[in-house]
Amino acid sequence: MPQMPPAHPFDDDKLREECGVFGVVGVKDAANFVALGLHALQHRGQEAGGIVTHDPVEGFQSARRFGYVRDNFTSQDVMSALPGPIGIGHVRYSTAGSKGQTAIRDVQPFFGEFAMGGAAIAHNGNITNANALRRELIERGSIFQSSSDSECIIHLMARSLQRNIPERMEDALRRVEGAFSVVAMTRTKLIGVRDPLGVRPLVLGKIGDGYALSSETCALDIIGADFVREIEPGEMVVITSDGIESLFPFRQQPSKFCIFEHVYFSRPDSILGGRSVYETREAIGRELAKENPVEADLVCPVPDSGTPAAIGYSLESGIPYAMGIIRNQYMGRTFIEPTEQIRNMGVRLKLNVNRALIEGKRVILVDDSVVRGTTSRKIKEMILDAGAKEVHFRIASPPTAWPCFYGVDTPDRDKLLAATMSESEMAQHLAVDSLKFISLDGLYRAVGQVEGRNADCPQYCDACFSGEYPVVPADMVDQGFEMKSAAE
Ligand code: SF4
Repeated sequence: MPQMPPAHPFDDDKLREECGVFGVVGVKDAANFVALGLHALQHRGQEAGGIVTHDPVEGFQSARRFGYVRDNFTSQDVMSALPGPIGIGHVRYSTAGSKGQTAIRDVQPFFGEFAMGGAAIAHNGNITNANALRRELIERGSIFQSSSDSECIIHLMARSLQRNIPERMEDALRRVEGAFSVVAMTRTKLIGVRDPLGVRPLVLGKIGDGYALSSETCALDIIGADFVREIEPGEMVVITSDGIESLFPFRQQPSKFCIFEHVYFSRPDSILGGRSVYETREAIGRELAKENPVEADLVCPVPDSGTPAAIGYSLESGIPYAMGIIRNQYMGRTFIEPTEQIRNMGVRLKLNVNRALIEGKRVILVDDSVVRGTTSRKIKEMILDAGAKEVHFRIASPPTAWPCFYGVDTPDRDKLLAATMSESEMAQHLAVDSLKFISLDGLYRAVGQVEGRNADCPQYCDACFSGEYPVVPADMVDQGFEMKSAAE
């Protein structure tokens, strides 16, 4: 299997969103729209992708491939084998399952044949009780094809006694804990569901007489669909070419949308919570500047994800913004299997310092997060090598001290720099002149919560910063993960 180059220059030192989902109904050649939608969602998963369609004559068809959407779902051969007016698709990095060594059978969408017809399902998120469910299902005779936790949903649907597929899906998802945004399809229905907390995003769009569901609005833009609204936490929509039925099958709970979507995962041209992600990131930069001012000559982003926050920091502080670091846009397949010599060049392959700007300057570097800290250290060395007088890191998220179990790839807790060091210890470890993070309250203000974080009932999921998990990660606790104690 070819190893895909990361979309972000430091993917090995970033939290990584693990999936994007897309679906469309009521259009001619749905697969073409799904492929375009998945292409726009490629930042949410680069390892593999799949599309399922249904055509009244040809029935269900599917194609699942490793690699980028543009390399797999553009040829006439593949696309003409996916006919029909309804289709769903999925891009993935590996979630649960055989992480890092995915088999093609783990690539979604999954398909199940039921007495009342077939259904395909694609899922973004992570089922936190998947191990327990899988054990139970296997004991009761289910035969699993993949190591993906999403397959549990298909088996739970198969065992449901409900009369139709949407009702079976409701039944199945009531047994599932954790974070899920699901896009599914039958022969005639496109179905979207968000978990009761609404941890992962899902939006609805309108295209001609048809409808689309997508992880993000940027994928609606690419197919020319109008953004209608976000699917609500705990909502299930059943869409046919005749219209939309909206159901709320779960017990209502306060929503806990992933606050990191605002910081890093979503594309800056997407709309979240009625505001562009770009604007929110700029507001985060402004808040960061208010909380953590420092005298300096230049504000530089760590490209690309630090850019809007760096612009916000510069606007608020009055310190000039500059592209002090240039990203090589053409990191392609050339270095898929790099030689030892090339690998040792590390960050320099992906980034270069704009020496003429940096030399002799006191530089503020704005990045979206610090995970392991390995890349921050290398960037600091590059900036100093280019002659900077001082290097100050400003980080557009609070310290990432806890792993995510809701569909985001995170290193084990002991690999997270902030889990083992205080802010000043991290500054020393990175050997920078200063290192400051936005506060959790500051982040909440920047995303539109003017009063900051409600400590009694946080308005978002922020577990990777606070250690307060809105859903107990039952499987991980079974495997020995220690939750934050009340005393911490
Ligand atoms: S733990 Fe962090 S990354 Fe995971 S869902 Fe919550 S806020 Fe998002």
